[in-house]
Amino acid sequence: PIARTEEMQKQREELPIVKEEDRIMEAIRGHSVVVICGETGSGKTTQVGQFLWEAGWGDKSSDNPGMVAVTQPRRVAALSTSSRVRAELCLPSDSPLVAHRIRYSSTTSADTKLVFMTDGVLLRELAADFLLKKYSVVVVDEAHERGVNTDVLIGVLSRVARLREDMWKEGKEGIKPLRLIIMSATLRVSDFAENPTLFPTPPPVLHVTARQHPVTVHFSRRTSANYLEQAYKKVARIHSRLPGGGILVFCTGQNEIVSLVKKLEAKFGRKAIEARKRRVLEMKERDEKRAKGREEWKAARKAEREEDEEDANAGPVEMGDDLEAEEVELGDDKDLAADVDDGLYDEDDVDGLESDEDEEKFGGLDLEDDTDEPMHILPLYSLLPTDKQMKVFAEPPAGTRLVVIATNVAETSITIPNIKYVVDSGRAKERQFDINSGIQSFEVSWISKASASQRSGRAGRTGPGHCYRLYSSAVFENYFDQHTKPEILRMPIEGIILQMKSMNIDAVANFPFPTPPDRDSLRRAEKTLVHLGALEKSESVSKVGGKITELGRSMSLFPLSPRFSKMIVAGQQHGCLPYVIAVVCALSVGDPFMREQNLGDEDGDVPEMEEEKALSAAEIRHIRDPEIRRREELKVARKSFFSVQSKYAALGKGASDVFKMLSVVGAYEYEGGKDSFCEANFVRTKAMQEIHKLRAQISRIVQSTYPGIDAGFVPKLQPPSETQLKVLRQLLTSAFIDQVAIRKDIADKQSTISYSKVASTRGVPYRAFGIDEDLFIHPSSGLFHQAPPEFIVFTELHRTHKVWLKTITKINPA
Ligand code: ADP
Ligand code: MG
Repeated sequence: PIARTEEMQKQREELPIVKEEDRIMEAIRGHSVVVICGETGSGKTTQVGQFLWEAGWGDKSSDNPGMVAVTQPRRVAALSTSSRVRAELCLPSDSPLVAHRIRYSSTTSADTKLVFMTDGVLLRELAADFLLKKYSVVVVDEAHERGVNTDVLIGVLSRVARLREDMWKEGKEGIKPLRLIIMSATLRVSDFAENPTLFPTPPPVLHVTARQHPVTVHFSRRTSANYLEQAYKKVARIHSRLPGGGILVFCTGQNEIVSLVKKLEAKFGRKAIEARKRRVLEMKERDEKRAKGREEWKAARKAEREEDEEDANAGPVEMGDDLEAEEVELGDDKDLAADVDDGLYDEDDVDGLESDEDEEKFGGLDLEDDTDEPMHILPLYSLLPTDKQMKVFAEPPAGTRLVVIATNVAETSITIPNIKYVVDSGRAKERQFDINSGIQSFEVSWISKASASQRSGRAGRTGPGHCYRLYSSAVFENYFDQHTKPEILRMPIEGIILQMKSMNIDAVANFPFPTPPDRDSLRRAEKTLVHLGALEKSESVSKVGGKITELGRSMSLFPLSPRFSKMIVAGQQHGCLPYVIAVVCALSVGDPFMREQNLGDEDGDVPEMEEEKALSAAEIRHIRDPEIRRREELKVARKSFFSVQSKYAALGKGASDVFKMLSVVGAYEYEGGKDSFCEANFVRTKAMQEIHKLRAQISRIVQSTYPGIDAGFVPKLQPPSETQLKVLRQLLTSAFIDQVAIRKDIADKQSTISYSKVASTRGVPYRAFGIDEDLFIHPSSGLFHQAPPEFIVFTELHRTHKVWLKTITKINPA
């Protein structure tokens, strides 16, 4: 029995899953594997662990003393639910009884009964203790998302559960059966529940019927490519016309989210609204004053006239009066006029056809008049610092409307309270992987019908809601897949294969994947791993059967892509290791540099100026015209942006984006890892922090794997020597030997064109092994504005209207 507060008790009782507690616990007691399906927000993530807790699981004195683990695909979900559950159980916020374990942060102790962790962390733990003896139950959450880690975890755990059961039946000392619970937000669980390779006896599937309120779905008549603009308009319309209730907007990534937040903030944020109110008030006062003045003046004139009835010459005076009145109109506040004029408040402006449709849609609802209630606008994406992400759970300030601009995180992982309106772009940024070229990229593409329905469902948690889809029903019918493709089918799998091999799962082809990966991609993974020396060459061509080598085993200890692990394992010469670690960590986390296009304009922030620029910033503040001021600010920002870029590109003489990253990592640490450094140097704070943490973690692993090597983590880096840079370049090239690009005129011997004399790489085509199209150096590369090098190694390819080479290093610099 738990002393929950009355308030908590009430909130809990409203969750659909709480009514099913007995049925769920009965199933768990009677079966080693149970599948639970329940609508997002029905209480799966926060409650199931508590059911087990109350039934005594995890209690050291009980029959099932092992911990209860609940796995999540995302760190923020593991963090937010562990703290939520501590609160629900009325435990102090630092109680070790309910803990979390995510990369870089673990609060488990000997007392822990319930732990929320990422699936990646549990997978790593399996390599060290395949029987998971510390645990009595593993709950794999968000299984419907079909992430690689989740899929593989379910496959491995199906084996572990069977093994523990057998050992327990044989009476092995200290072994108890392991319970496996799979939770999904959708009904599509046949890949788990009806998959005899995975579970010979099908596990029971329990459905939790959520009391979901009706959500009215509105398709757009047209599908515009500019969905951000559409989203902005839709949010503005909902806000000004529809009754209170939170708005949740689904976008695809950080840049979009930041720009939309900024744009909404500029118009509907508290500050903007207050400024507007102030201006309206001032104008009204001015009008009143002038009107009053006019009245007084007229009265005075009248009095004069009455006094001097002989004066017939009143005409010009009246005219003067009119003139003045007109001046008042003309001298109106330009900004405000622009505000009113940009269509947002105008009924039939916005987007032709669409606005008719809006009339229809909004027709049946209670319309409110234009509101001057501010929006409380919050971004939500995974790169956002965790404390900022957690803000969505807090009550918005009184008298404001909550507007959350989110990525997929809000689709099922996180339930934001009181959302009434959903605006769905219908897109998501997904990692795509072309098996033939082995090239991955992030592409914005249509989501699945299942995802679209998850998204609209977010609007019906607390009452009837509305979902505005920024695409037409025809696009939905014709272009949306039924379900999201499991991640294992769309990403390189050498990392996960190496991890499986390190758990001694040799016959990967026979592994009970919920959805087995493509044979080609298995073969490609094997080839890469053999090439990196992580696997023995297998005799049989048809089977991914190669055994893991000693080198592979060391590589598997690093939570990195095998190419990067190889660089670390191979990079122990000439005191290079600290640099290799820094480079690999920066590459793993991703390019920390912001893009030029994110400066100042609506796509991004004008970062705070460095101190020596304070004067010019102060000067700029005195510029009256906002447009000129903005342009001047942008100019200053650009100038310092480019000087920063060339400062960091200087390492290795501008020949490598990788060295540029190394250089900024060094400078960041040298200045003590401050946020102000990131602002002044145009790098993303969260990325720099992640790189720092990852370096510490990797250094620790190196130290414990190679006790002879001094890899104690010293954040500060001296600039590398020429020799060290050369070694780094070699390591990079050998890890990415299949990702070398050659300038097209060099690759093609018959070529009559030569790019040897041109000054920029703009439009200069490159070719790479196994890819039958032209590739171009991306403008974000430091090499873009230089003479085009003949050979380069790249770590990333990105397809938009062209295929772009990113994160580039010149192979044989002059
Ligand atoms: P499910 O896993 O089925 O989607 P959850 O257990 O995550 O459902 O959520 C149940 C309820 O608890 C939701 O109403 C959600 O808003 C609330 N909730 C979950 N996490 C938090 C949190 N960190 N703070 C406040 N409320 C939360
Ligand atoms: Mg959940």
